[in-house]
Parts: sequence; C-alpha cells; structure tokens
Amino acid sequence: MKRDPERAKLEAVLRASKLVAGGFLGNDDRPLDEILADDAAALERAGRTRGEVAARMREIGARAREGIETWVPAGGAVEARMIEARGRIPCPWDHPGRYFKTIVEARRTDTGDAARWSDLSVHLIEAHGFFQGRGSPFRLEPRRLVRLLF
Ligand SMILES: [Zn+2]
Repeated sequence: MKRDPERAKLEAVLRASKLVAGGFLGNDDRPLDEILADDAAALERAGRTRGEVAARMREIGARAREGIETWVPAGGAVEARMIEARGRIPCPWDHPGRYFKTIVEARRTDTGDAARWSDLSVHLIEAHGFFQGRGSPFRLEPRRLVRLLF
C-alpha cells in the first residue's frame, strides 16, 4: 500500500501521543490504514454506521451527565455514569477544537458488557472511523461497542 507522508506523520503522532498513556495505537503493530479498514469492515458487519454509533454514544453521554458520577438509566438495558476530568484535548488529526476529557462509562444490565469513552472518542469514531489501536486504554472494538449500545 502506498504511504503518503501526511498519513505517516499522523500515524507517528498517534503512536507517540502523550495525551493518552501508551498512545492512541496502544501495542497495535498494524499500519493506521489497516486498523481503519479492519474496523470499518467490522462495523459494517455489525450493521451500524459511524453516525449511528456516535449518536447513541452522545445520547448515553447526555444521560450520564444528568447523573454526575452515579449510574443512571440510559435507554434499553444500558446504564451510564460520568466521571469528571478537567481539561480538554485536541484531535490528533489536527482539527481546530478541543474535546472534554470527561469520561462516560456505560454498562448493560442484561449482559454485563461495559465500555468507557470521552468526547474525543466519539469524534474520532464519527469523523475519522478511528476506534484506536489494540492495547490502547480507550480502544473500542466495533462489534462489542455495537452490542453494548443497541
Ligand atoms: Zn478530528
């Protein structure tokens, strides 16, 4: 696969980022394009779009915000809570705008599936199809995420 220089630079930033311990790619050795392609395929197999996933994550986040650090119902079998964290972080794709570090935790009462994410995670999925690399603390497996959300 042809590697363009911009892409290589972005990939280096994602691997080295000090914003996330271990970087956005964790210990994932796959090239960024491959990570993006694999996750896009997994999401398609799960029958959902990036927009649908991001919208549901935002909806759960809004419910969690009402509860403030206590678990609240967030639609269907999902419960959520918000963990306050100060500050904002930029998108590594070099966009204007910063994203709150506040964490949303979600879990299902029926299956016990759980996940957590920040506003940046939602943006990365929606705008870039990026679920972060395997081994990253904020990696979200598309198939498991869809099972949790819907
Ligand atoms: Zn971005």
